[in-house]
Amino acid sequence: MKCPHCHQDNDKVTDTRTSPDGSEIRRRRTCGNCGKRFTTFERPEAVQRRVVKRDGTRVPYNREKILQGLERACWKRKISDAQITGLITQVEKDVESTFEKEVDSRFIGERMMHYLAELDQVAYVRFASVYRHFESADDFIKELTEIRRNPDWEWSTSELLRDRSK
Ligand SMILES: [Zn+2]
Repeated sequence: MKCPHCHQDNDKVTDTRTSPDGSEIRRRRTCGNCGKRFTTFERPEAVQRRVVKRDGTRVPYNREKILQGLERACWKRKISDAQITGLITQVEKDVESTFEKEVDSRFIGERMMHYLAELDQVAYVRFASVYRHFESADDFIKELTEIRRNPDWEWSTSELLRDRSK
């Protein structure tokens, strides 16, 4: 990186940080020639990726939006911020290993549900009910019946239904 003060390319990175929404990497650099410090901002490759929505429109990948959806689903559940961030990172890895430039929004949604199901069944059902746009109570019951077949899940129907009615 060229130093903005003396224009020599002889710097050392002293600190690297990612912005809270993951959209930017900030690097503090020290010039080896004049000794002055400067900061650079980079946009990681994942951000350039575009998401193809159901209606066919393309939007830039937005980690913040995914985070908001997850936080809504995990509201008041015993799920840490680190678990939520870890889930998003896992989904991003899946996206990166499967798609090059454009990713179907359905793929992201399905991967998120996959990991949420392992993490917390209430958060999973909340997310699924928004994501899959359950049209009727029947659709919702069908989903509940299906996840209930999973013997690893200890959960209560009444808790989920109460949660749903809010
Ligand atoms: Zn310099």
